[in-house]
Amino acid sequence: MIYGRPRRIARFEPMDELVSCILSQHTSDANSFPAFTRLKETFPTWDLIVNAGPEKLADVIRKAGLANQKAKNIIGCLNRIFETTGSYSLEHLRAIPTLQARKWLMDLPGVGPKTASIVLCFSMGRETIPVDTHIYRVSWRLGLIPEDVGEVKAHDLLLDLVPDEMSFRYHTDLIQHGRVICRAPIPDCAACPLSDVCRWFKNGGPELRKQELTRNRRQKPLKRAEAKK
Ligand code: SF4
Repeated sequence: MIYGRPRRIARFEPMDELVSCILSQHTSDANSFPAFTRLKETFPTWDLIVNAGPEKLADVIRKAGLANQKAKNIIGCLNRIFETTGSYSLEHLRAIPTLQARKWLMDLPGVGPKTASIVLCFSMGRETIPVDTHIYRVSWRLGLIPEDVGEVKAHDLLLDLVPDEMSFRYHTDLIQHGRVICRAPIPDCAACPLSDVCRWFKNGGPELRKQELTRNRRQKPLKRAEAKK
């Protein structure tokens, strides 16, 4: 309860959530939100984006970065959704089980498990766990997933492990925990209520990481001096 009661607030309807998530990949909200707003102002309907084509779309979403790739993926998604459903809508996913819906979304261009899980979690109220960098780090440190398991498998493992009714809380609490206490690279284990059950802490991982960072800091000036010789 230390991070409070999580509230699931639907930001967007599913199509908007999907496109805004693609824009947010590999960048910050400060870049992706203005790009999404500009996209919606320039193209009030999805067919206008398809008709405009990838080059014009890329110009509009430039602020989100990787604009050419993202434009290609967004148009690819729109085309695939229209071909499959006959409209620019994801409403049909509400009628199918969560894992099936996630797989359907992951077959769209540029949509990985995190984007698919965000769409299902936030715009459809489904019990999924979008795994961001904080959730990944805290989960492996606790010993819930292997450190090098990769993003796709991490989503599957955590979905299997966390009971449905806890999945949203797990998502929000681990993000908070990763930002506030279990930070990268050095966590504040003395302040952590999970240290009794944390595998990395019990194995001395944080202490070893501290020593490694100190060693690296000491070695840097030496290496710079050697390079100048
Ligand atoms: S004990 Fe340390 S490493 Fe483990 S979860 Fe807590 S802050 Fe993270």
